[in-house]
Amino acid sequence: MSVTHTLEADVLRRQDPELAGILLGEVERQSTTLQLIAAENFTSPAVLAALGSPLANKYAEGYPGARYHGGCEIVDVAERIAIDRARALFGAEHANVQPHSGSSAVLAAYAALLQPGDTVLALGLPYGGHLTHGSPANFSGRWFDFVGYGVDAETGLIDHDQVRHLARNHRPKAVVCGSIAYPRHIDYAFFREVADEVGAYLIADAAHPIGLVAGGAAPNPVPYADIVCATTHKVLRGPRGGMILCGAELAERVDRAVFPFTQGGAQMHTIAAKAVAFGEAATAAFAAYAHQVVANARVLASELADEGLAVTTGGTDTHLITADPSPLGVDGRTARGRLAAAGMVLDCCALPHGDARGLRLGTAALTTQGMGEPEMARIAVLMAGVLRSEIDPTGARDEVRELAGRFPPYPG
Ligand SMILES: *Cc1c(COP(=O)(O)O)cnc(C)c1O
Repeated sequence: MSVTHTLEADVLRRQDPELAGILLGEVERQSTTLQLIAAENFTSPAVLAALGSPLANKYAEGYPGARYHGGCEIVDVAERIAIDRARALFGAEHANVQPHSGSSAVLAAYAALLQPGDTVLALGLPYGGHLTHGSPANFSGRWFDFVGYGVDAETGLIDHDQVRHLARNHRPKAVVCGSIAYPRHIDYAFFREVADEVGAYLIADAAHPIGLVAGGAAPNPVPYADIVCATTHKVLRGPRGGMILCGAELAERVDRAVFPFTQGGAQMHTIAAKAVAFGEAATAAFAAYAHQVVANARVLASELADEGLAVTTGGTDTHLITADPSPLGVDGRTARGRLAAAGMVLDCCALPHGDARGLRLGTAALTTQGMGEPEMARIAVLMAGVLRSEIDPTGARDEVRELAGRFPPYPG
């Protein structure tokens, strides 16, 4: 069942040793360093098998039972299974499993509900809004009129008073809740109430927490939002891709917004892999995983705070932590570089206030490898030691390699 098994035995190594070497090199990198990037995870061998299958060959524009291409009888069943599993997992009346990515899902959600020029209220980018939440570098910022809400300067928590105030003043057509960096649960009932008060749609961009939702470790936005956008590759641990959940009344608009409005042929290998991942996510083992992800993040956050980093909001409810390393005498960019040299791979992020960059990290991948609270505590000490230049990077790199070696993501 090893990922490298197919490669070793396989044509790729004989036919194209250059690319085979790159694939093996990446497997080696992932297995010998610590993947602390909050958006990353390790998919299962079963998901990888579906992704690497000849379903990739099939053209399937349209939806099951209504395709533009012949020969779709079998892939239609795969997509129906993916849809049914997603609906059951999240309690949604309708699921569209075709979006190629989280960004494609958001694009389709806007296309289903909005016209160019409409006003949209979303978390501002400096506070953890995604590029699709109004960045001038993204379609969203060019085609819609975004108004950004923020977080409280003291607590780092979403400023609910400001959200309500901006909604009343700007009368947006849609309110977006969801973030790339917010470590706390989102109060979906509050956002529903505000959207209702001003007659706006509510779009929940749950790309990050949707895997925790699947495992019962975070609140489910489905009962509150008109449309829920998500990715399938973050905590959810499926293939790289997107998904949309909504009520029956928006089903047709959402489906048309995905195909033919913003996408062409569905990627049937990825949809089959999504079905496999939804099957895995419905198990008791996955629920235990999701709760362990949060338990690990809580320990990592509190140990990092004990080491002197300024942890945003003072902790986390999720897999995600953001922190300012400047109390240790390093800025975010320098910190990311030093940690990378020691084999600890994470991101920089905007910090809510001031220009300084912070660190963003998560526990989804480490937890998939089987690491628990003791490992989190050790990693926090290592990180702080490297940042303070008290532990030399070579020594830290050796310890990271040893730690990662004890928890292989793909045993064998
Ligand atoms: C990750 C993320 C996305 C985008 O997902 P991609 O698959 O990278 O396009 C969108 N919104 C939020 C909130 C995210 O966290």
